[in-house]
Amino acid sequence: MQNPHVLIVEDCPAQQLYAGQLLKQLNIQHISYASDGELALELLKKQQTDVMLIDLEMPQMNGVELLRSTVRQQLCQAVIITSAKDSLLLNSVATMAEADGLQVLGVLAKPLNKEQLSVCLSRRIATVWPAAFERKTPFFEQNLLQEAIRGQHFSLCYQPIVDMNSGQIIAVEALARWCQPELGIIRPDVFIATAEQWGLINELTLVLLDQALRRLQQWQDVGLVVPLSFNLSPLSLSDAAFVQGLHHKVRQFGIKPELICFEVTETQSFTHVSAAIEALANLRLAGFGIAIDDYGTGFANIQQLSRIPATRLKLDRSLTYGVSERPQQRLVLENTIQLAHKLGLSLIAEGIEKLADALVIKRFGINLVQGYLCYKPLTANDCTAVLCKSSDQQAVS
Ligand code: C2E
Ligand code: CA
Ligand code: CA
Repeated sequence: MQNPHVLIVEDCPAQQLYAGQLLKQLNIQHISYASDGELALELLKKQQTDVMLIDLEMPQMNGVELLRSTVRQQLCQAVIITSAKDSLLLNSVATMAEADGLQVLGVLAKPLNKEQLSVCLSRRIATVWPAAFERKTPFFEQNLLQEAIRGQHFSLCYQPIVDMNSGQIIAVEALARWCQPELGIIRPDVFIATAEQWGLINELTLVLLDQALRRLQQWQDVGLVVPLSFNLSPLSLSDAAFVQGLHHKVRQFGIKPELICFEVTETQSFTHVSAAIEALANLRLAGFGIAIDDYGTGFANIQQLSRIPATRLKLDRSLTYGVSERPQQRLVLENTIQLAHKLGLSLIAEGIEKLADALVIKRFGINLVQGYLCYKPLTANDCTAVLCKSSDQQAVS
């Protein structure tokens, strides 16, 4: 690769300097430095970065959290992961990053050396993400997003959640898409974060919920009673009036709260923890389901199980993908499942793409799966067709 721009994310000034010197010896001319995850994210948003050399142990936002945010916001495509910690930790983080679609050029124990770094950098290949994303998040100016929300340029896809025992669809998850006239379909990882940044997330959420509830009504009108999972930004949870508004909206549409499960992921923006827990508890009391989303990632972890009043746990793809081939991952998954069962939480395994993984997961006692193996996210019309077919089959059997 010609002249890559490398960002060194390292909290120790001496190690930062050392890594920079090694890169200079390898003729890397564009080097920037960040001493923690937050600063790294700021830099990534401002400048084109080809490779991030990232230390796992940092104060505030650690390397794992930084990797997740980088993926969500599609800020950098390739990483080299370093740590003084054991290789098991390094490798499992690499597995997570790869499962998320990052190019992991290498996993290096400290101290770094020039030869290993050189091999890692030579592994980088051309773009991983669609060209439309090359310009990264800043192109979503506040006005552009605001107009899109007001002009209803957002639509929802629906991904079925399937019971492996019966083969039936037990619910669908609504996934937002932005149909931008110039750029085409934009995925939510990119625009949800931008909507959060501009303070537009509540407005966007209401537009999407409206659409989802209207769809549920249409399905009910033709005899399809379909439970719906709907994603909520953790930022919205600190606004009690907004959360109350969600409840009103569902009632207005005549939809039973029991049919809706709100999915939330704890992130760094889950700052007002007590307000968020209060909001979730109120939703629970009103009859809604609550799912902890992305369980097993940097933010969503074991601590949440005891503090979020959830009914359901969604196991992230980084825990489930490739589980049939990785004994250590299997162990983690098995223990997580046992814990969730003891806490009385229902489980959904996300990101299931391979039959072998589905079989392992089923053997561990999870029946509910969501993933490309069963269905990709479907347009509303395609989903209606699939639901009709599924309900006909149910009627026959
Ligand atoms: P999520 O809630 O974890 O949703 C699952 C994501 O995994 C979806 O990506 C889905 O298309 C993808 N997926 C499903 N099965 C597979 C599989 O087998 N393999 C792989 N590789 N991926 C699979 P999508 O639609 O791009 O959404 C990304 C994230 O954006 C969602 O992750 C959710 O956190 C957020 N999001 C989506 N819609 C909304 C929304 O309406 N509101 C909010 N606040 N967030 C949303
Ligand atoms: Ca979700
Ligand atoms: Ca998820």
